[in-house]
Amino acid sequence: MIVDAIKSVLRDVEHPVSLHEPSFIGREWQLLKDCLDSGYVSSVGEYVDRFEQQLAQYLGVEHVVAVVNGTAALHVSLLLAGVKPGDEVIVPTLTFVATANAVSYCGAIPHFADSEQSTLGLDPAKLRQYLAGILQLDDGQWLNRNTGRRVAAIVPMHAFGHPVDMDALNEIAGLYGLPVVEDAAESLGSCYKDRMTGTLSSLAAISFNGNKILTTGGGGAIVTNDKVLAKRAKHLTTTAKMPHRWQISHDEVGFNYRMPNINAALGCAQLEQLAGFIERKRSLAETYKKTFSDVVGVDFFQEPEFACSNYWLNVLLLDEAKPEICNEVLEALNNESIMARPSWTLMHKLPMYQGCPRMDLSVAENLEQRLICIPSSPFLSQAGDHA
Ligand SMILES: *Cc1c(COP(=O)(O)O)cnc(C)c1O
Repeated sequence: MIVDAIKSVLRDVEHPVSLHEPSFIGREWQLLKDCLDSGYVSSVGEYVDRFEQQLAQYLGVEHVVAVVNGTAALHVSLLLAGVKPGDEVIVPTLTFVATANAVSYCGAIPHFADSEQSTLGLDPAKLRQYLAGILQLDDGQWLNRNTGRRVAAIVPMHAFGHPVDMDALNEIAGLYGLPVVEDAAESLGSCYKDRMTGTLSSLAAISFNGNKILTTGGGGAIVTNDKVLAKRAKHLTTTAKMPHRWQISHDEVGFNYRMPNINAALGCAQLEQLAGFIERKRSLAETYKKTFSDVVGVDFFQEPEFACSNYWLNVLLLDEAKPEICNEVLEALNNESIMARPSWTLMHKLPMYQGCPRMDLSVAENLEQRLICIPSSPFLSQAGDHA
């Protein structure tokens, strides 16, 4: 039944059907050629500035710093949020590995938190209760009483493009003076209430990897309204090079994380089409929603009531947490050349993160066994096409 429903939605598209393919139907060739002709293909060039400005305008935010990928954006955002070696950082266990890895790059330890079914992201009520039980004030700092380590930040992730309940999470963070760094890698263009994800905390990271809703080939961005943080972000991501006309000197250990101009040229062309991509993806989600409304045993995951999501990856939730049913569906779809994927393996089950602190993760563990991602490329929708 599930397989037939998906096949009916995709019956007119060419197979194999991938999970998420980029669309290059705008001025990509034109801007890339212009970039090559200019000779500026690396980390200096007008497309980087243009991409940053246009993205900032789109998001309604003061500053965007374009970097080589979303993981680098997260890494530097966490450093700027004050995460230090030996700290703990609250991250969801249901996420892509980059969220936890960025914490590790800071020498800090991910502390895994549970998700809620209505958003697939951090559960604020459960987190609030948990933190009240484990945090203890010591000399002006909130320590995990079980490990003695400082808890330094909270990193909510908007899973598959669906916003988490940011007001509730910001409120909890406020109780303990913890900075919030949004992992908005998947949610470019998604709104929480009337604001864009990526603008709901002091710092946010976005990804423009090839499988994301907007791609620069590889790329990412640090987003902030804070002028000082933006300046620090730009400095740290350009090897901490001191501005000078000819001297090459650096005042701290920086990173070679700036987005190259050629990637930014692609990004500028993609940005012109973002509204259209979102329209098509929401229309595809609508088609899936209708199709699955009368299929038993499964729900098509819909945006939370406070959200307008980009539906980056469409998600099915099986009624029952039965891995064998999940596997059957995945097997059947992949045999039909329709790419479908299960949930990420939860972070606390990965060998390098098994020993990390964590709360009860039963909701995420249940979701992991019920979740299937199905084809979501914008061109799969006929919205806006002439029939
Ligand atoms: C894609 C992604 C990232 C990292 O982005 P890259 O550009 O691939 O480094 C981080 N977090 C989440 C949740 C992602 O999906």
